[in-house]
Amino acid sequence: MNTPTPSATDHRHTKRAGSVPTTLQSALAKEPDASIDRVLQIAEGLSDLPNGAYPCLNPKCRNPCTYPAKGTRGHRPQRFCSRECRLKFERAQSRLAWEVRRLEELRELPMTTRLGVLLNREISRRQWALDRYPTLEAEVGQPKSPANGNEPR
Ligand SMILES: [Zn+2]
Repeated sequence: MNTPTPSATDHRHTKRAGSVPTTLQSALAKEPDASIDRVLQIAEGLSDLPNGAYPCLNPKCRNPCTYPAKGTRGHRPQRFCSRECRLKFERAQSRLAWEVRRLEELRELPMTTRLGVLLNREISRRQWALDRYPTLEAEVGQPKSPANGNEPR
């Protein structure tokens, strides 16, 4: 990683000029007509994306997940630190989605204002939790799975 670490022996001769783009988006704003070669050259040279600093996507886990080093084959970018975390994520996601649907069905029933408020709160709480379990994109290089009915994923 290129993150500068302050230390007593750190001579800061290489202070970055303020106008140097640090993301692909800002670089392309300056070179909107860049060729594919140039775009990839810029994309590769920037260090705004962490190499190993993103946490596992299980929202209850803090373990880091890595992107495979260039040239390594057969390694997928890690989204979960372990198979266990992937399973926990998938189980929590489908359980919460089920609970939201189940509670929403109760809205059809006659109920007091007090129960309506409680019901909305419990639905909202589960949706709030569900925001931590987003539907994940298919992995790069993997064909996207065809639309599979109305089952939320
Ligand atoms: Zn994890």
